[in-house]
Amino acid sequence: MVFTPLLASTCVGTLEFRSVAEPVSRIQPTLSSSPNSYFFLASCTGIDTRRHEVYCEAAPNSGLPSEPYRFKVAYDKLVIAAGADPLTFNVKGVKPHAFFLREVGHAQEIRKKLLLNLMLSENPGLSEAEKKRLLHCVVVGGGPTGVEFSGELSDFIMRDVRRRHSHVKDYVRVTLIEANEILSSFDVRLRQYANNHLTKCGVRLVRGVVKEVQPRKIVLNDGSEVPYGLLVWSTGVGPSEFVRSLDLPRSAGGRIGVDEWLRVPSVEDVFALGDCAGFLEQTGRQVLPALAQVAEREGKYLAVLFSKIAKQNGGRASATGEVALGEPFVYKHRGSMASVGRYKALVDLRRSKDAKGLSLAGFVSWLIWRSAYLTRVVSWRNRFYVVVNWATTLVFGRDNSRIGGCS
Ligand SMILES: Cc1cc2nc3c(=O)[nH]c(=O)nc-3n(C[C@H](O)[C@H](O)[C@H](O)COP(=O)(O)OP(=O)(O)OC[C@H]3O[C@@H](n4cnc5c(N)ncnc54)[C@H](O)[C@@H]3O)c2cc1C
Repeated sequence: MVFTPLLASTCVGTLEFRSVAEPVSRIQPTLSSSPNSYFFLASCTGIDTRRHEVYCEAAPNSGLPSEPYRFKVAYDKLVIAAGADPLTFNVKGVKPHAFFLREVGHAQEIRKKLLLNLMLSENPGLSEAEKKRLLHCVVVGGGPTGVEFSGELSDFIMRDVRRRHSHVKDYVRVTLIEANEILSSFDVRLRQYANNHLTKCGVRLVRGVVKEVQPRKIVLNDGSEVPYGLLVWSTGVGPSEFVRSLDLPRSAGGRIGVDEWLRVPSVEDVFALGDCAGFLEQTGRQVLPALAQVAEREGKYLAVLFSKIAKQNGGRASATGEVALGEPFVYKHRGSMASVGRYKALVDLRRSKDAKGLSLAGFVSWLIWRSAYLTRVVSWRNRFYVVVNWATTLVFGRDNSRIGGCS
């Protein structure tokens, strides 16, 4: 499992990859120790809700007895928590040319590309324009991920690139392209702060809509062209191909539709949660944001609900008919945080976009942001790694000598 809030920090070497990734069996030891509890490393390719069966396929080239290695798992209750995929809005060229930032593998690719471009740009004979292009890092999407990544990049450039790649330091630039406003879910004052801070840190903010991505340049709707050496695409998430392939009711945005108890109505014994699920229109509730704080609480809610169901002898397939489910799931937003680089962050503790509440920006927010996420890192071992990484970055700068070093 990846602790995504700290993923942006791994792209430039502020944190090591192993500090943000946690083996599933460490988070949930039951899965590897308790009889009848298992973790299977495989992709689910289909679900037969009438037969109560899930069809799976192990990763290709895994060396298992047959290729592909397929198996099925029978269930009494099924929870679909398959997450979401990056949204590209079908903009031509995004998939082949842009990097996404959702997994450790993505962060590794971004880090390799960034360091490769820095080294390539020192080669003799390159024109000024080519050096500028190679070292132009473009981020599309001004949500928390895009902003945090831009902040990390500008920190990296201001501190580490200036010292270690001083020949090319003046060519490195960061541009953040956003169609509307950056951090649109945050308080207006915080948005303004982020705008000013990023600009001060050298991030160029461009209001625009990307029409097409070509191998070396982006074309915007107004016809202008933006050459790039590294492009990171972060414009939100939508249903994955797997989720779209399932014949299940849908909520707004094409997610799997659930009722107030996170059940998929009209399909027996199937529940869904997290980024892949959304309340059905008839519940009168809004689809919840694609956030870990939503997924985590939905997961905990379902665990309690299943215990209730089991106590009423409803645990078996098709046995929930007369079971009292109790209170429906209620989500209370605990607020949002985002770092903007240079030891500054935003903390917005309002319950909703239009509600009143505490919101602050600056160094104190950055301390709150760091402490809050440190307590959320699952194991003490990784908390230790994170603290050591932060401390060594502060004293010695970022260590990018082991770019593939993910455990
Ligand atoms: C860079 C970044 C920063 C973020 N920061 C924050 C933050 O600060 N705060 C916050 O609340 N949220 C944050 N989020 C959002 C948060 O990570 C997600 O909302 C959360 O992880 C959703 O949890 P989930 O369990 O629904 O899906 P995921 O965590 O995406 O897990 C889904 C899992 O299902 C697996 N899967 C998918 N399809 C299949 C299949 N067919 N078969 C088998 N397995 C499958 C995937 O490999 C994945 O491991 C961030 C996200 C990113 C990318």
